Amino acid sequence: MKVTLVEALETPLRDPSPRQCLYERMRGELLEEEREALDRALDKVRTDPNNGQRKVYSTAWLASVLTSQGHPLSSATIQRHLRNSCSCRSRGDSDE
Ligand SMILES: [Zn+2]
Repeated sequence: MKVTLVEALETPLRDPSPRQCLYERMRGELLEEEREALDRALDKVRTDPNNGQRKVYSTAWLASVLTSQGHPLSSATIQRHLRNSCSCRSRGDSDE
């Protein structure tokens, strides 16, 4: 695609937020109230006192809810975000 000089000069070399993980990118596309609900859900996953298979709110649960609502995400992606080991939380640190 041919870009005019004006367009080229207005296009930054780097995306200002290139390091968002899939989870964060999906979150950015949600409506305000959906985003709040998602944050609450993630909190429940984070603070669920049960372990492993007994978890009521797990990343697998969140992944299946999101996927069934048209936002396909894997539980591994959510897990990484939850553990702050995804790309959007490691800003300034070394890459994974
Ligand atoms: Zn993330």
